[in-house]
Amino acid sequence: MAPKRRGKPPKHFADLTPEERVASVVEAGEPAFRAKQLATHYFTHYTSDATKMTDLPAKSREALATTMFPELMRPTRKLEADGGTTVKTLWHLFDEAKVESVLMRYPQRTTLCVSSQAGCGMACPFCATGQLGLTRNLSTAEILEQVRAAFRSLADGEIPGGVTRLNNLVFMGMGEPLANYKAVIETVRALVAPQPEGFGMSARNITVSTVGLVPAMQKLTKEGIPVTLALSLHAPDDDLRSELVPINTRWSVDETLDTARNYFEVTGRRVSIEYALIKDMNDHGWRADLLGEKLNARGRGWVHVNPIPLNPTPGSIWTASDREVEDEFVARLRGHGIPTTIRDTRGSDIDGACGQLAAEEDDE
Ligand code: SAH
Repeated sequence: MAPKRRGKPPKHFADLTPEERVASVVEAGEPAFRAKQLATHYFTHYTSDATKMTDLPAKSREALATTMFPELMRPTRKLEADGGTTVKTLWHLFDEAKVESVLMRYPQRTTLCVSSQAGCGMACPFCATGQLGLTRNLSTAEILEQVRAAFRSLADGEIPGGVTRLNNLVFMGMGEPLANYKAVIETVRALVAPQPEGFGMSARNITVSTVGLVPAMQKLTKEGIPVTLALSLHAPDDDLRSELVPINTRWSVDETLDTARNYFEVTGRRVSIEYALIKDMNDHGWRADLLGEKLNARGRGWVHVNPIPLNPTPGSIWTASDREVEDEFVARLRGHGIPTTIRDTRGSDIDGACGQLAAEEDDE
């Protein structure tokens, strides 16, 4: 593996398929079974420090560490909220691009929100990341390193509540995951592969959230990996949605909903509709009704709606809907028979909630 690729992060063990891992250790002059040893360290023990891999011959360790596990990112800042059960990590990548991930521990489960791109090209005006523009796609290993670090931290008992495992993963950090399709799907494969080939997570506990890139949604439908699909809709009508989610001018609300419905048809996974409630923008009763009608027109039981009060971003004129308006919106959707649950805004006080990730440079 060449350590330097112009403009691209160094190749890392976690970028490779199980077959490529074997080829790569053999190329490095090591026996094929080293691939499984390395995979066990990485995916079962959450270690990438080959100098600590004491079952490898001392002579090989150093060389394997540099070729297989080049340092991809450094945590430069950690912010905590909710008594330490929400932790946002700021990562500096090899080229000083910055991303964030957020770990959230709940009584019954632990969820990691990962970034798939540095910045985002989708330009949704209410989203902090959307204001940054796209810096670049993350590599598979850059996404997996966020996950490994979370497993490691939970195994080390760093989060109050005792040692635990990561149960859920959401692609709701920085970036549009389906605009970085190849790396994201390779990441998903490594997340669900049984240990030691991967992290052994359950596909249903992985959520890929998208603005609605229809061709990529269709591709995901055919992968045969039943991840949960979340569609960031935010408006049921094209006029408003094109303003809130600019890619809507390319693929309309109806086309996007048809594609989401087909995802359910093929995978059996109920789709989540994300809807940030923005005061006097998209929170009208008639819009709840229109959304309910459009969803029901495509059948029953295939979808649920997750409204979330807008997390206001710096400089934005928009704010969250009033509580009564939010309640009315939810009640109307439920009145149409649509399962609806308000999503929590954990981490909003550390700018770690949905749509707030901007990876600001610290002032130090
Ligand atoms: N690009 C993907 C995933 C990243 S954003 C997507 O758009 O789905 C994850 C979720 O947070 C999306 O549903 C997004 O619309 C929502 N979001 C963005 N900004 C927000 C904000 N300011 N308040 C609440 N939710 C927001």
